[in-house]
Amino acid sequence: MKNIEARPAVPAPRRVTHAVDIGGVIVGGDRPVVVQSMTNTDTADVASSAKQVAELWRAGSELVRLTVNNPEAAAAIPRIREKLDMMGVDVPLIGDFHYNGHQLLEREPACAEALAKYRINPGNVGFGKKKDVQFAQLIEFAIRYGKPVRIGANWGSLDQALAAQLMDENSRLPEPHDAAQVLREALIRSALDSAERAVELGLPRERIVLSAKVSGVQELIAVYRDLSRRSQFALHLGLTEAGIGSKGIVASSAALAVLLQEGIGDTIRISLTPEPGASRTQEVVVAQELLQTTGLRAFTPMVTACPGCGRTTSEFFQELAKVVQNHVRAKMPEWKYSHPGAENMTLAVMGCVVNGPGESRHANIGISLPGTGEAPAAPVFVDGEKTVTLRGENIAQEFIALVDDYVEKKYAAKA
Ligand code: SF4
Repeated sequence: MKNIEARPAVPAPRRVTHAVDIGGVIVGGDRPVVVQSMTNTDTADVASSAKQVAELWRAGSELVRLTVNNPEAAAAIPRIREKLDMMGVDVPLIGDFHYNGHQLLEREPACAEALAKYRINPGNVGFGKKKDVQFAQLIEFAIRYGKPVRIGANWGSLDQALAAQLMDENSRLPEPHDAAQVLREALIRSALDSAERAVELGLPRERIVLSAKVSGVQELIAVYRDLSRRSQFALHLGLTEAGIGSKGIVASSAALAVLLQEGIGDTIRISLTPEPGASRTQEVVVAQELLQTTGLRAFTPMVTACPGCGRTTSEFFQELAKVVQNHVRAKMPEWKYSHPGAENMTLAVMGCVVNGPGESRHANIGISLPGTGEAPAAPVFVDGEKTVTLRGENIAQEFIALVDDYVEKKYAAKA
């Protein structure tokens, strides 16, 4: 064998950044990557917004952002907080401000107080001479209320004055860079310069998270590699406007997996456009699965299932895989406290004897269903040993009972 390069089987060590306390959730430092999401309700609708925040939190979102775009939305924030507290939902809320944030925070001190973090977009703070003044006002509110901020630059709302200045400087170079490179630099500089300005105004570095989102996978990777090389601020990762369905999931995962693998990123959001009628919580599930499949965190037992092929004649094994995955996901909020460690359990649901027993042996608990022409029997393997063979109509229920029994025996919390 020659020219075979050793590659790491685990992600690179996390880059240590400034740790930021967001309402009790620590983002950055050497802490695990935090999952966050954003509501799509009208924030002024207190009941709907509180309900969706609670759903996102139950799905596993550790921070939830809401848009605060007008006086009604700002007035609703403390009421949403109160409603959540009454429901026992203690997830920190983040306010997303554009253009009028300085006015809204001035007008609604209770909103400024109830939020755990303010998100400021340096490209949308204000225009012309007002921009610097309004940015300073937002930072002063963060200092006055003791809150952290995310300075979140975005490709879609790039600071046009800065972009024009860098383009101009570039055109005078003997060998100008291409326009895309200059615009990328403008995005990064917008985030970094704004963060340094916030520090000059008196906000500690430990109260600043940075992001610089774009919608292209390769662009996002390039931007964040640069951002992480040039600062120690905690970084929020996300591919903006990722898209709908599998395209959004694939694009987000492709970009974020590369960065996370390199140890870059302290908190993530998957910006999926929900399918009509689909739950907003899908973005949380995808974020968790991304972190879990890359080995960075464990949230819920993972089910390994084969794709099926001509050797399987029914959809039973696909249904079983789905039923098992849904069962463990539904049980996990309870198991988290009653059976800590259950989130690390691995399960296998396989369609036939070709890879079934082998894959099942690698899992904590696995089942190999009969393929075409095979005897109607489904051997179950527990910790690598065949323990029982299931037959008949109730294989799904019996397998789930075996999973629950395994969790009880292996992970029950010590009294
Ligand atoms: S395990 Fe069997 S059913 Fe599943 S993909 Fe492989 S050969 Fe097909």
